[in-house]
Amino acid sequence: MTEGSSQPSATSDSPLDELKQGIRNIPDFPKPGIQFKDITPLLADGRLFRMALEQMIGSHQPDDIDLVVGIDARGFIFGAAAAAMLNAGFVPIRKQGKLPFETIEQSYDLEYGSNTIAMHRDAVLPGQRVLLLDDLLATGGTAAAALELLQQLQAQVVEAVFLVELEFLSGRKLLGDVPVRSIIAY
Ligand code: AMP
Repeated sequence: MTEGSSQPSATSDSPLDELKQGIRNIPDFPKPGIQFKDITPLLADGRLFRMALEQMIGSHQPDDIDLVVGIDARGFIFGAAAAAMLNAGFVPIRKQGKLPFETIEQSYDLEYGSNTIAMHRDAVLPGQRVLLLDDLLATGGTAAAALELLQQLQAQVVEAVFLVELEFLSGRKLLGDVPVRSIIAY
């Protein structure tokens, strides 16, 4: 090994800048007026995907958390990978009608209409330490409904973590006392 032989890194950007570069904005998807944050470029880059997971896991250590709960559908991608890294189990919260066993369900309002999410009623035991993960916090309706389900099962929600937060929508106000953390804010 020769001292001073290391190459300058390809980029001097901070990790957060690098992660941001893996998220592309798609105007007017899926409908006019929505700025859709497309995370597929980040997922397709192994280094960025791992960086995103490490940031989302934060200071949690393996075996600190019993279960990572991920929200349909992009929450599954981060949730399942984070669960494996934390030596924790993974629980999906799905759209209504997808889970095969007995479910508990929670509806919430969307801009137009409403949506219902569901979880298996035996998915979490009272007092289990849960980390709730999703790709993005917008109005907070989805995450608030997920927290309702977890509360019904008497989970101990340690933290709710999002890769992206649309701060101007103030979604975290709907999440009550649960500690909320996001990695990238717009
Ligand atoms: P909300 O219930 O408004 O907080 O919306 C959060 C859910 O909708 C998350 O599961 C996101 O994946 C998705 N979502 C909402 N807004 C966007 C957006 N602008 N770009 C990408 N995904 C979004």
